[in-house]
Amino acid sequence: MKTARIGLIGLGVMGANLALNIAEKGFAVAVYNRTTERIGEFVSSAGDLAENLIAAESPQALVAALQPPRAVIVMVKAGAPVDAVIARLRPLLEPGDMIIDAGNANFHDTRRREAELRKAGLAFLGMGVSGGEEGARHGPSIMVGGQAESYEAIRDIVEAIAAKYEGRPCAALLGPDGAGHFVKTVHNGIEYADMQLIAEVYGLLRDGDRRAPERIAGLFARWNEGPLQSYLVEITAEVLRATDPLTGRPMVEMIVDRAGQKGTGRWTVIEALSLGQSASTIEAAVGARSWSAAREARAAGAAILAGAAPSGEGAPALSDDDLEQALLAARVVAYSQGFSLLQAASEEYGWNLDLATIAEIWRAGCIIRSGLLNDMAAAARQGLPHGLLIFAPDFARMLAAAAPALRRTVARGALAGLPVPAFSAALAWLDTMRQPRGTTDLIQALRDFFGAHGFERIDGGTGQHGPWAK
Ligand code: NDP
Repeated sequence: MKTARIGLIGLGVMGANLALNIAEKGFAVAVYNRTTERIGEFVSSAGDLAENLIAAESPQALVAALQPPRAVIVMVKAGAPVDAVIARLRPLLEPGDMIIDAGNANFHDTRRREAELRKAGLAFLGMGVSGGEEGARHGPSIMVGGQAESYEAIRDIVEAIAAKYEGRPCAALLGPDGAGHFVKTVHNGIEYADMQLIAEVYGLLRDGDRRAPERIAGLFARWNEGPLQSYLVEITAEVLRATDPLTGRPMVEMIVDRAGQKGTGRWTVIEALSLGQSASTIEAAVGARSWSAAREARAAGAAILAGAAPSGEGAPALSDDDLEQALLAARVVAYSQGFSLLQAASEEYGWNLDLATIAEIWRAGCIIRSGLLNDMAAAARQGLPHGLLIFAPDFARMLAAAAPALRRTVARGALAGLPVPAFSAALAWLDTMRQPRGTTDLIQALRDFFGAHGFERIDGGTGQHGPWAK
């Protein structure tokens, strides 16, 4: 009987493409899917690659086709389906075997699953995969969490299927248990922020300048040749250029302005807050998607809040260069907040995350790949002053040059009545982080007034109270 070193459960968009990628790199892979009709269809549409595919009609058949110690990738919908698949696999596996969850799991689930399976003598890797359908098929960025010896057992396969940046695989073991899935979550949070910033630029040009999508596309295409070079800027140009085959109008104009979200953006914000941080640019992006769902209320608000509309007076003119600089600055801020969150989680969970390695494996394959990541990796290697990417000398210089444009962009949005929540959040954070004396002195005084919380004095001493104390 033909056997394989690795199995894969879940032949949806990502699983099917990942299985083809593995087969193409010369590894046999046994495949199973809950809806079993999908298995035969998948193998028969695989062409020459079918040679390396073993169709398993049941989890038992899949396990039987694997060489011990067995390794099974689970690529199903995140949440309860992963637990359901693990429950079916667990009695079929032997100590030393391994389950790899390659979906977008919440890292708390990954920590729980890892601990439970470890008790049963089974290894568990939480493996974040980024790059969408195309990435899964031809080379994603792969963020792994788990034990080193478990990763070593499949490292050659993971590195073979990963995207390459100048020949180096964009895959790494980043830390134990939930580290890989946490990094993938923050990756997605940064992706939310980047997309929101791009959408805000589109809004300023569409509603502020009455510019047609085709013209905005040209701008993004040009920016993609400069410091903003990135996958998301590249595909924005493509998307804005596309025409609806049914009406002949720009495709983007035919799409309902209500965005979906599956959880990773929200998880980033929740984790940031629970770690005493605020990834405010990402938060603004998640919030914008949430408010996009209130479409009927927004339509009603146009009339109800008509009186709050701006006069338009005093709104500064914006050049294309301003928008380019503003996007660059806000993008750096979003990454910086994401990196700080990674650092905070690393300390909380004892992961020892290496930010430089993370930036390096994001340079190709993943959705947020961009020209900036190489510089970010170099800055992280040198050590970030106070742990902040925005303080790294090259980035601090870049932000100093771009800050006036970021200010004009936010001012233009505010005075023209065009919402720019992510740009605003980015600017507010930049200004917060260059303010030696903030305004929390007053917050502390108020807290002391109504709750006798006490405060520190600037001339020394803690637990002090103000003269208002009764
Ligand atoms: P699809 O919807 O294309 O496929 C879902 C898969 O999950 C199918 O194989 C389905 O089997 C299986 N499944 C669902 N529920 C169960 C269950 N209870 N028991 C067993 N199998 C089940 O999803 P994707 O491939 O897009 O996503 C898979 C994972 O990858 C998710 O965690 C997703 O968040 C993540 N991901 C997705 C990306 C993307 O761009 N699409 C990018 C990166 C990660 P069946 O055919 O029987 O329904």
